[in-house]
Amino acid sequence: MPTPIHDPHYAPGGPLKRLPLRKAAVMFVAAVCLCLCGLLYLQLEQSRRYDLSLAEVASSNLTRAMAQQAQDTFLSADLVMTSLVDWIQADGFGVVRNPRLQRTFARRVQALEQLHGLFLFDKNGQWVVTSFDDLPRRGGVADRDYFKFHQQNPTLLAHIGPAIRSRQNGEWIIPISRRVNDQHGEFQGVLLAGIKLAYFDQFFKSFSLDDNGVMFLALSDGTLLARRPFEEARIGESLAHGDIFQKYLPHASFGNGMIRSVVDNVIRLYGYRQLDAYPLVVAAATPKETILRGWYANAYQSSVIVALVVLGVGLFGWVFVLQVRNGELIEADLRTAQERLEVIATHDSLTGLANRRLFERALDIEFARGARQQSSLSLIMLDIDFFKRYNDTYGHVAGDQCLAEVARAVKSCCHRKSDLAVRYGGEEFAVLLPDTDIHGAFTIAEQIRHSVKDKHIIHSGAPSGSLTVSLGCYAFIPEDGDSVEVFIERADAALYQAKNFGRNRTVVVSMEGSPEVVVHSEVC
Ligand code: GH3
Ligand code: MG
Ligand code: MG
Repeated sequence: MPTPIHDPHYAPGGPLKRLPLRKAAVMFVAAVCLCLCGLLYLQLEQSRRYDLSLAEVASSNLTRAMAQQAQDTFLSADLVMTSLVDWIQADGFGVVRNPRLQRTFARRVQALEQLHGLFLFDKNGQWVVTSFDDLPRRGGVADRDYFKFHQQNPTLLAHIGPAIRSRQNGEWIIPISRRVNDQHGEFQGVLLAGIKLAYFDQFFKSFSLDDNGVMFLALSDGTLLARRPFEEARIGESLAHGDIFQKYLPHASFGNGMIRSVVDNVIRLYGYRQLDAYPLVVAAATPKETILRGWYANAYQSSVIVALVVLGVGLFGWVFVLQVRNGELIEADLRTAQERLEVIATHDSLTGLANRRLFERALDIEFARGARQQSSLSLIMLDIDFFKRYNDTYGHVAGDQCLAEVARAVKSCCHRKSDLAVRYGGEEFAVLLPDTDIHGAFTIAEQIRHSVKDKHIIHSGAPSGSLTVSLGCYAFIPEDGDSVEVFIERADAALYQAKNFGRNRTVVVSMEGSPEVVVHSEVC
């Protein structure tokens, strides 16, 4: 099917509608990379949370074990003390009973591994009986907090105090004590059991814990009793201002919390638990770094792999985009070459006007359009007057220049984009004027004639002394089946008449009205 190349709505070699492949490729690569990074992030975040939740479970179990051990330790000592207090309150103590009490104390201490010793003090805080063979010679415990507590509080419940050094042998102990009343309920003294700090230290050491891990046992008021790693200087210090005692314990008696240490700035996962039966708190902490050590290694590996894949995809995308761009450049070059070829194939090289091939193509299209739209189609045929003489006088080169000059004049009078100026033959031109009636064609023809004349191309062989042209116009409304040849012949016939009437004029032949109308212009 012929291409409507003269159609104003058709732009030869115009941009083809095509998929934005380059943009799509860049977006696809970016989307793939984003998806990979997103998946990596999700997977890492999930495994990080999983590792932390496992650590929380382990931490809860550890603190439960610690709490159970602490409770059992104090409970067994407390049970021994309860029975002894009952016995002492019933029988009293004194020179006669003290040896038996001492033997009983010693047997109880031997039976309970955690016990450092058992001590009975009278109401003035003086030593009465201990589980040891000999009593300290001097001093008493009237100044100790636990003694003052029982002296001033009638409660018969056990009291656990801050860790102290035993005045018996200097060993660190946690004192658990009970008030001893006489038969009338009056304060008679204090029975004290010393729990070895070393016992907790050993228990804490039995757990495998990171070097930066921490375990501790404290009173409910925050006073530190035992700790792993053991630091003597810290025994008795207050943890009351720490996050566990300030933020967590007021809300829940046990749980976990990620806390940054104010001492070494290390973030640790703390598990804590308040004992049910005693005013004690246990806690164990593992550094976050330790918990996530495996995760960090996995994250590093996965990140490297994803980074390599992203790099590969990016490189592939880059090469692909370059290839697409090269393809587009080659295509653009081809299109330009094709357009040039198209121009060469359809245009006259001397004048730049359309050649007969394009003229015939345009005729077919405009015939069809005119028939479809019932619009008038006009044709002007033009021939240079006495051109043979011109050639003879000025030579062929000058003749060619003259032809180009006339072509410019013809072209300059084609105002619409749909108007088509054609070099029809040697020194013959045609102008196809779609949607133009005979009056319009006549006007254009006259414009061309004047335009050529006004160029004042000297032609000594012409009667007027300058170059002129003769034009024949024909217009009709095409119908299906009308002959292109007849159309040209009619215009040519008009041109022939123009020549016959004396040249340098326009003759029109129209079929619009009936019968055929012949008009010719005034020669001026
Ligand atoms: P008229 O048309 O007025 O009757 O007289 P004429 O001398 O122009 O006669 P005709 O149209 O037959 O002359 C055609 C001449 O045009 C013949 C040839 O010398 C010249 N011609 C045709 N093609 C070319 C061309 O491409 N270059 C040049 N320089 N001359 C050409
Ligand atoms: Mg001729
Ligand atoms: Mg001629």
